[in-house]
This record gives sequence, C-alpha cells and structure tokens, in this order.
Amino acid sequence: MLDMEKIVSLCKRRGYIYPSSEIYGGLNSCYDYGPLGAELKRKLKEFWWKSMTQKHDNIEGLDSSILMHPRIWEASGHIQNFSDPLVDCKSCKARFREDKLEPGTKVCPNCKKGELTEARQFNLMFKTFMGPVEDTANVIYLRPETAQGIYVNYQNVMTTSRQKLPFGIAQIGKAFRNEITPGNFIFRTREFEQMEMQYFVKPGQDDEAMISWKEERREWYKKLGITESKMRFHEHKDKELAHYAKKAYDIEYEFPFGWSELEGIHNRTDFDLKRHQEFSGKNLQYFEEATKEKFIPYIIETSAGCDRTMLCILADAYFEDTANERTVLKLAPFIAPIQVAIMPLTKKDGLPEIAETILKDLRQQYSVTQDDSGSIGKRYRRQDEVGTPFCITIDYDTKADNTVTIRERDSMEQKRIPISELKAYVEPYLRYPID
Ligand code: ATP
Repeated sequence: MLDMEKIVSLCKRRGYIYPSSEIYGGLNSCYDYGPLGAELKRKLKEFWWKSMTQKHDNIEGLDSSILMHPRIWEASGHIQNFSDPLVDCKSCKARFREDKLEPGTKVCPNCKKGELTEARQFNLMFKTFMGPVEDTANVIYLRPETAQGIYVNYQNVMTTSRQKLPFGIAQIGKAFRNEITPGNFIFRTREFEQMEMQYFVKPGQDDEAMISWKEERREWYKKLGITESKMRFHEHKDKELAHYAKKAYDIEYEFPFGWSELEGIHNRTDFDLKRHQEFSGKNLQYFEEATKEKFIPYIIETSAGCDRTMLCILADAYFEDTANERTVLKLAPFIAPIQVAIMPLTKKDGLPEIAETILKDLRQQYSVTQDDSGSIGKRYRRQDEVGTPFCITIDYDTKADNTVTIRERDSMEQKRIPISELKAYVEPYLRYPID
C-alpha cells in the first residue's frame, strides 16, 4: 500500500502543500497550498462549480458569509448536537474520539497502559466574539458547514433567479471544526473548504432525487480520473444517521490509511427549513402554482470536502514507474496545475523565441510553462513528477518545417505535429468535461 509519507514529501518538495506557519514550527493540522497546490485546488473547484451551475439550468451559485447570526446554529441543532464524544488517557493525556475507537476500548491505544476517562461531549464549533467587548452577548461562531448559509438564503435565491422546484444552490467555502483528532495530512483539518450543493424538491420526489444525485456524484469522481475500484458507497444505518437525515450515503475512497469518507449525500428532509421557519418567524413555505399547494421543500445535499478530494486526487495519481525510473502524478489533464511544458532543445539559435511564441498563444487558455534547463530527459522527469500531461519539444527541425514533438505523460509516447495543430490537439484533454 502507498506510503502517505511519499505524498507528503512530494507535496512539500514540489510546492503543492506546505505545513502552515512552518518557520514558527508549524501549527497542528493546518496547511498552506503552494503554487502548484493552489492551482490544482482552483481547477478542482472550477470543475465542481461548472459541473453544478454551468451544467444545470436549475442550479444557482451562492457565496454566503462565514460569520452568521448565532440563532442559525441554534436552529440547525449545532449548538445542541454538533459534538463528538471525547475520551482522554489518564496517563499519557492522549485524546481520542470514542466513536473512532474499537467498541469497548478501556486502555489507551497510544501508551498501551493508561486508563481512558468516561466520554464527554465536546462541541466542535469555534467560538469568537463580534465587536470589541468580549461578553457572552457577543459570542459568534465560525461556520462548521456551508449548508446553513444556503438554507437561510433559499427564498432570496429562488425569487431573484425565478427558480421553481426542483432547484439547487451550490456554494464553495471555508468551514471550521475544532476536531478532537485531526490528522492524516489534509484529510481531517480544523479549517477546510467544502463544496456543497443543496437540492430543493417537493416531498415525495426526494427518494428519486437522492438516487439521481448519488449516481451523478459518482460519475463526477470518475471524470476526475479517480480509480473506480477505490470508490464505494457506504449507507448510514440507524445509529449513524444524523438527527436531520432520512437517508444518507457516503462516497468512500480507499485512502493510503484505509477506506474513508470523501463526500456525504444526505436526504435532510424538511428539517432545516422547518427549524429556520420556527426560529426566524419567517414563512419559508413554497407555493406550487399548478396545484395551489403550500409546503416546506425537502433537501437533498451533496457535501464534498475540497481538501479531502485534493488528497484523494494526489494519492490516486501517485505512481512509481520503476521500469522507467520516474515518479508520475497521473492527474486528469484538465486539472493539472501545469498543463503544457514547452521545452526548447537549446537556449540558442532562435529556439527559445519559437518556444515563446507557442507559449504566448497557448497561455490564452491553458496553464503553460517554459522549461529550458537540464537535459530533455531530466526535464521530462521533472514534469512527470508534478503531473504535467504534455511536453512540447522545439528542436532544429522545428525551424525547418514548423513541427514540434509532443510527448504524453502516461504513455511517454511522442508524436510530431505542426505547431498550427497544437491547440486542437490538446483541447479535448484540457477542457472541463461537464457534458
Ligand atoms: P467525518 O465523519 O469524517 O468527520 P462528517 O461526516 O462529519 O465527516 P460531513 O459533516 O458530512 O462530514 O461533511 C461533509 C464533507 O466535508 C466530508 O465528506 C468531508 O469531505 C468534509 N469534511 C468534514 N470535516 C472535515 C475536516 N475536519 N477536514 C477536512 N474535510 C472535512
């Protein structure tokens, strides 16, 4: 099985992900995305966004604030229920989530001798204060999920965009959870980004919508290039179901540390809107023109973690090609941070100038770089390791006949093609597959 350390090390070495606040010794479970990581993440979010809002006429985008009215978290149940059972080791002081330990564990898995305390509920929301006075009246929370910002805006969005049921609202944004046991690199952190879509339907049409979104989300990961045999659905059984859910599935991925949740697909019923109606005093019913019926819509949610998907993409793409003495990141070409590397064979005789012209042209649409140091073999390996799908080499024949060599990362196959055909050649691989 793939060693996580290898991914962490590649990420650090090549500018994908660094530990946060590194020159101060780092901050537990916080990470910074470097130049390549930021670009990969940006493309990932773009793909998700386009797959929701551009692909579907009935899905609208939203960007709501992180700080919201504290009553929202009372209505949502987060103040009362958003907690994990925390146990401590009386000897080494290690902390664990009781629900993640083997049932009946009494002895500390860390020091193997200390006794564990009784579980107590620990609320995961980060608290802060709004305004200059730190008193309880000013307590406010960093949102632990982006979903509530969508619910409280459902009528705004519906009216301003003239949507009718069924319709969805998509949002990408930061969420914060004071996790008891963060870990596994960017898998579980205290600050993370979510990509959530809430789909509003008439009660009775919820089961069908759930089935259809389950399938669509699985297809989305396939388009991202994720290995199918490493994905599965896990259905939540009675005890696992959240207080608001009628049915819930996780899309799980086989990470280097085992099968774990990547995305949640939940039928949240009319719980959230009913509660917001009750707590805000505003009528949140939907009026159906055709039947003259009034009702609170049901909500199907697809909730994906952006950082978790990043880890999934990186782990799935990592490949040690021993036969060819190279490490390759087999990223789907359309999300690769560098999509085309242009390599003039030498730094003289007009070759860099030709490279520059091609670069300027491709740069209008794609992420392109020029790589002109070291042998061509070394340059290929460097690009393979960061996942660049195409390398274009400019040599002396280019000057004579306006053709270049284009090399494909995974097969290492090389083809000679006219410069004028380059754009058309790469286009099918580099556009977002949202059809
Ligand atoms: P877990 O059981 O792993 O803590 P959860 O069931 O609480 O996750 P949800 O509340 O369903 O997670 O959140 C939806 C998605 O948000 C998750 O599938 C995951 O991708 C992402 N996510 C949740 N918590 C974190 C975290 N601490 N760090 C990174 N991503 C997270």
